[in-house]
Amino acid sequence: MSKPATMSIDCYECHTPQKFVMWQTLNSTLDPELKQDLLNRSLTRFTCSKCGLELELIYPLLYHDMERELMIWLRPDGVDEEDTKLKEELSLAERECGHHSLRIVQTVIQLIEKILIWDCGLDDRAVEMMKPMLPSNSPQLTGQLGSDFSFYFSGVKETCDAKALVFDVASESTSVELTVPYNLYLESTGMLVSRLAEFGDGRGSWLRVDLKHVAKA
Ligand SMILES: [Zn+2]
Repeated sequence: MSKPATMSIDCYECHTPQKFVMWQTLNSTLDPELKQDLLNRSLTRFTCSKCGLELELIYPLLYHDMERELMIWLRPDGVDEEDTKLKEELSLAERECGHHSLRIVQTVIQLIEKILIWDCGLDDRAVEMMKPMLPSNSPQLTGQLGSDFSFYFSGVKETCDAKALVFDVASESTSVELTVPYNLYLESTGMLVSRLAEFGDGRGSWLRVDLKHVAKA
């Protein structure tokens, strides 16, 4: 079940107090419309009723997809190892959903990326392992975006004769789309199989699966 909490927020611009609903838990199986609001980012968007100011409010949110056996915990402030209440919550979820894939992310865009990866039936570890290979597949982009940019998976594109993965390549000022042949993903899943001893099956305990995690393993 999804769990909302209504907060009173003072607009950062005109300081008018108003209500904003934060979702502590979002169950995408029972509340698919909330999932859509999360994906189009209206769920985290605050719009001031007086001055019209719009901004994204990021708060801790536990995303639960029962069908795909997936839980993703958005923790904007990271996970403090000393936080015993949080540790209890994490281990409770582990006990209740032992066979789930459990992931921790720090930003809304990372949360959305994980959801899309599972929706497309892909493995997030293999997708992360692809990312270091992407710049050499897109020399024209690196010229366009400079040196500081990130890749976020955004979907699978299928035409009658080819299948491809689509990434948003985001830098501070702009974002462009990159299409990568599906074969590169298959190559990456092959690499993953050879590293299963390090990775395990990716289920049952909370993991941060990002570029750093994959490079370290
Ligand atoms: Zn305002």
